[in-house]
Amino acid sequence: MLPMEQIDAVVIGAGVVGLAVGRALALSGREVMVLESENAIGTGTSSRNSEVIHAGIYYPAGSLKARLCVQGKQMLYAYCVERGVAHQRLGKLIVATTPEQVLALDGIVAKAAANGVHDLQKLTAAQAQAMEPTLSCDAALLSPSTGVVDSHGLMLALQGDMENAGGLLALVSPVQRIGVKHGTATHPIRVTTQDGTELACQVLVNAAGLNAVALAERMDGLDKSLLPSAHFAKGNYFTLAGKVPFSRLIYPVPEKAGLGVHLTLDLGGQAKFGPDVQWVEDPTDLQVDPRRGDAFYAEVRKYWPGLADGALQAGYAGMRPKINAPHEAAADFMIQGPAEHGVPGLVNLLGIESPGLTSSLAIAQEVCARLG
Ligand SMILES: Cc1cc2nc3c(=O)[nH]c(=O)nc-3n(C[C@H](O)[C@H](O)[C@H](O)COP(=O)(O)OP(=O)(O)OC[C@H]3O[C@@H](n4cnc5c(N)ncnc54)[C@H](O)[C@@H]3O)c2cc1C
Repeated sequence: MLPMEQIDAVVIGAGVVGLAVGRALALSGREVMVLESENAIGTGTSSRNSEVIHAGIYYPAGSLKARLCVQGKQMLYAYCVERGVAHQRLGKLIVATTPEQVLALDGIVAKAAANGVHDLQKLTAAQAQAMEPTLSCDAALLSPSTGVVDSHGLMLALQGDMENAGGLLALVSPVQRIGVKHGTATHPIRVTTQDGTELACQVLVNAAGLNAVALAERMDGLDKSLLPSAHFAKGNYFTLAGKVPFSRLIYPVPEKAGLGVHLTLDLGGQAKFGPDVQWVEDPTDLQVDPRRGDAFYAEVRKYWPGLADGALQAGYAGMRPKINAPHEAAADFMIQGPAEHGVPGLVNLLGIESPGLTSSLAIAQEVCARLG
């Protein structure tokens, strides 16, 4: 029998988070291999999102989402400049369209301030309309630090940095089995891929996105009582035929789960509306039901009455890796490292939904810190 291959660190998943972690570990001087089940990087949630660099406004103060989004935003803007990744600091308007929502704006400003976001500006309806003439609202907040990024360009840059620092990417390498005490004396964690390849490592980071909880549940030697249950919430997008008369992102004041039917722009100026929230059992169910568009018209017309009948077309969908059930409060990111589960060298990244793209570089920094 061949001796097991040994490597310092294995990262499971080549989405934006896995690649950011792989890069950070490689830059810290470790030998790293990122294992990805598909035949390309970023085919999961990282290529099915809004590509928004979030400011960090809404998350509960002190949460990982708040801290890592605000840190991650700063790191991401700096990284995009340094590495020439396409991005734009477009700014976003949070628009109040009822008297109750106008009152809620002060609460949003306070929540943002508690997270270290101090740049929100209150606008009257006239000031908002001077910026976006087709907008209808009673008042608004401007978030100047919200922007958009080319997520694929970002992932290519992360992969490039990792490889330049000696890290390796193995595509078509689905991880099937993990034994946290089944490796060698010096590299105690054993990872087995579908084709039977076995790797012994000192560090294992599970960044498998929608599959991360299921993979952790299959880890031999891990205390499973700490693991949350996995749930999935699809986010459907509808696109607009033709040019949109807005130059900033437009978000309603959030009322229920999700951020409301908002308008985001890509780097080419094309508009999309969504994502909505549709809880599903099957994480591979990414079809958009065109009938869901009916509900979008009423929501969008609250802030853009000029939206014409028939203007919206079914676009694409992304899947949120939830770790709270539909009736439960939104969960925070769950980063379980040695301090939580007692396994040296292992970090599970669970429930990395939005703002995971914005936070990716900060999550990678956090993982390195938890590994010591
Ligand atoms: C609708 C929607 C909109 C969003 N909008 C935004 C936004 O505007 N801004 C923002 O900051 N965030 C946003 N997010 C969140 C963001 O997209 C995610 O947090 C981020 O992409 C997660 O990246 P990831 O690397 O953890 O997961 P993924 O991109 O899903 O990557 C996981 C990878 O692991 C691989 N994998 C799974 N199992 C295995 C295995 N056994 N072996 C090997 N590989 C495996 C998968 O193939 C996949 O490539 C949005 C999310 C959704 C769903």
